[in-house]
Amino acid sequence: MKIICIGRNYAEHAKELNNPVPSRPVVFMKPASALLVNNKPLYYPEFTRDLHYEVEVVLKIAKNGRHVQPEFAGGYYKEVSLGIDFTARDLQQELKEKGQPWEVAKGFDGSAVLGRFISLDKLDRQAIEFELKKNGEAVQHGNTRDMLFSFEEIIVYVSRFFKLQMGDLIFTGTPAGVGPVQIGDTLEGFIHTKTEVRQLFSCQVK
Ligand code: MG
Repeated sequence: MKIICIGRNYAEHAKELNNPVPSRPVVFMKPASALLVNNKPLYYPEFTRDLHYEVEVVLKIAKNGRHVQPEFAGGYYKEVSLGIDFTARDLQQELKEKGQPWEVAKGFDGSAVLGRFISLDKLDRQAIEFELKKNGEAVQHGNTRDMLFSFEEIIVYVSRFFKLQMGDLIFTGTPAGVGPVQIGDTLEGFIHTKTEVRQLFSCQVK
């Protein structure tokens, strides 16, 4: 299983970190050991002083495929969830300035929080609304209609380089509003279904 992540997929978020809006998807990976499920806590890593949350819609790949054609891309996922792409922002900034890979700032243990999956049938698949609350207060609010690259475009693009395999996860980028967490904070992800607002994860920072 691999975890594919898309960076800068919402223009407002690219702007808040002074990054250019990309002309093709920004892709990076996290190892399977980064996964944090079942509402387990994240232990604040010792190598950062600036740990940031990024709430993202996560796709679960439903079948194997490479070089997926646009007209078939919609068939490659049937369930989505929400997750957090935890980022050691200070370390990432240092690596970016040196032109070095991000992995240690993005792929460390517990950096990929994953919530419960929900069937696409329950969602407005063209416009999935979601939010992140920190200690009960909304800090990020997103809607997938604002993505620069749609789920289908992401699947087409990444499958040119990486064979998609059943169970792979794709973190599809974060909207504006990212920020730091402190020990003791609780982060909760909510998705708007056609009928209700549902909590998909809760993660405490310890
Ligand atoms: Mg991200």
